[in-house]
Amino acid sequence: MFSLIDLPYAPEALQPVISAQTLAFHHGKHHQAYVNNLNALLPGSPYEGLTLEEIVRRSDGAVFNNAGQILNHNLYFTQFRSPKAENAPTGSLAAKIAEQFGSFEAFQAEFVAKGAGLFGSGWVWLSAQEDGTLVITQESGAGNPLTRGLRPLLTFDVWEHAYYLDWQNRRPDHLKALWQLIDWEEVGRRYGR
Ligand code: MN
Repeated sequence: MFSLIDLPYAPEALQPVISAQTLAFHHGKHHQAYVNNLNALLPGSPYEGLTLEEIVRRSDGAVFNNAGQILNHNLYFTQFRSPKAENAPTGSLAAKIAEQFGSFEAFQAEFVAKGAGLFGSGWVWLSAQEDGTLVITQESGAGNPLTRGLRPLLTFDVWEHAYYLDWQNRRPDHLKALWQLIDWEEVGRRYGR
């Protein structure tokens, strides 16, 4: 059985980019529902006893959708901390971003464009290949780049439930504002180089 993760910050901590009300629904209702749904689907299935990552790699249909959404939201919610105007990666991740994308600003522009341009519900991801090469991918629905053999580092949720209460139809503005919240120490740990 899986449990809903606790948020590593107070409900108001991400304001004004993500309101306490959005967090209450997004984490307390949507994320919780994926956990409840998966726990109801697992007993007697071939996925019982596997880790979340293993389930996402092997399953399809409703099991995949719910397991993927749990994993995606676990990675999403734990990459944030309170807003900081000047906020950028450091160390080897910063160097790799500059090497591959030209600059952090060019990387941000490409990442936001891929999130804004994703049709319908899904996620935009920064991931790493085994050799450390960075890749930006768009995933529809519950998709996670680990099914492509990539290690997920950072993600923006572009499902409307992630931003509609605070930003309505202004998805690109919401995505640009999310940079203030990124905990680059956590993303750097995921990169691990
Ligand atoms: Mn979501």
